[in-house]
Amino acid sequence: MMKLFTDKKDCCGCGACKDICHINAIQMIQDTEGFFYPCIDNHICVNCGECAEVCPIKSPDIRSCDRRYFGAQAKKESFRYSGSSGGIFPVIADYILSGQGVVYGAGYDSSMKVVHREVHDAVRLEQIKKTKYVQSDMTGIYRNIERRLKENRPVLFCGTPCQAHALRLFLKRPYEQLIIMDLVCYGVPSPGIWRDYVTYLEHKHNGKMTEFFFRDKRDRDNGHTCSYIIDGVEYAGSLYQNVYCRMYFTNHILRPTCHNCKFCTAERDSDITIGDFWGIERIKPDIDDGMGTSLVILHTDRGKAIWDSVKQNINWFECRHEDILQPRLSGPTEASENRQKFMQLYKEMSFEDLIEMKKAE
Ligand SMILES: Cc1cc2nc3c(=O)[nH]c(=O)nc-3n(C[C@H](O)[C@H](O)[C@H](O)COP(=O)(O)OP(=O)(O)OC[C@H]3O[C@@H](n4cnc5c(N)ncnc54)[C@H](O)[C@@H]3O)c2cc1C
Repeated sequence: MMKLFTDKKDCCGCGACKDICHINAIQMIQDTEGFFYPCIDNHICVNCGECAEVCPIKSPDIRSCDRRYFGAQAKKESFRYSGSSGGIFPVIADYILSGQGVVYGAGYDSSMKVVHREVHDAVRLEQIKKTKYVQSDMTGIYRNIERRLKENRPVLFCGTPCQAHALRLFLKRPYEQLIIMDLVCYGVPSPGIWRDYVTYLEHKHNGKMTEFFFRDKRDRDNGHTCSYIIDGVEYAGSLYQNVYCRMYFTNHILRPTCHNCKFCTAERDSDITIGDFWGIERIKPDIDDGMGTSLVILHTDRGKAIWDSVKQNINWFECRHEDILQPRLSGPTEASENRQKFMQLYKEMSFEDLIEMKKAE
């Protein structure tokens, strides 16, 4: 009988096991904390073991290689404004689209659920720019990417490091047309809690939410503002005062596996890693204008070749490994000591009461 994990901390919810199963014996089922886990139907399963082979948590550690490190800002102001950090994802995505390629990233669907999707043009690219602090649904994405690569289309995928590593395992062989980009990642919050938060705000403002920006740069404060739109009315405030973001940053609503994440290191097997350049105000205060600076790590020859193709569109400086270090490159986020208690309250209380209680803290 196939079993993918015994402890929830050993499943990152990337969904690659579901996508690889060609007899559809795996469903992703939501638990009481709002996270999705694979569930195998043992009446259908033929024990082929493919699901275990694509699991990024089970795969061996990543080898070291000759990496390069950069600080970077897109030259185009609109790319920088539309990105959460220095706008490097928009620059590289734009390059791939201009070569008839396809780009995959996380956007909202019509009910504000965070889902990975495929885009073919600059208009739809807007939907998958910017950070969403919610675990994204990857259903069907691994299969789609494989299909596009077999059509010989250039493909850029951007996601969390566990999703990126799962994609590498899913594809089994290298493709010259593929660029895998991953993020420095604090950890992913519960999609169930996000859904409840959206519903709470929609009731409060009596309307339908159509946008939520976690890293709004209107105040040129490196995206420390967040904003949302309900029935065309915009609401904005400090990222750190927002109750959902506070639950995230105080480590109450992250997926259990994030607290053991083995990808919290600069050693990845993606082609490119991007994140916020923490400490830019110390290293290069003259370029810190509040509009965001990215850190970029190039891991592979493919990553270095793409960088050479786009670097004329970027203001950049090369730096040392120690210059880019930040907490999520040296170890996972620690769970709040009250996480379990919080999740118990989430199960027992109405969401409105829970939010009012968190606001009062
Ligand atoms: C959950 C999460 C936690 C993060 N934690 C850190 C951190 O601790 N330190 C740090 O330096 N950087 C972190 N980042 C990365 C950072 O916020 C920026 O996303 C990154 O620097 C890219 O910025 P950009 O300006 O180049 O482009 P952007 O346009 O901001 O690119 C964002 C990219 O991330 C993808 N994306 C957005 N949300 C998700 C999601 N939920 N799941 C998967 N992919 C997503 C988008 O599709 C796009 O490809 C985190 C991002 C996420 C999504």
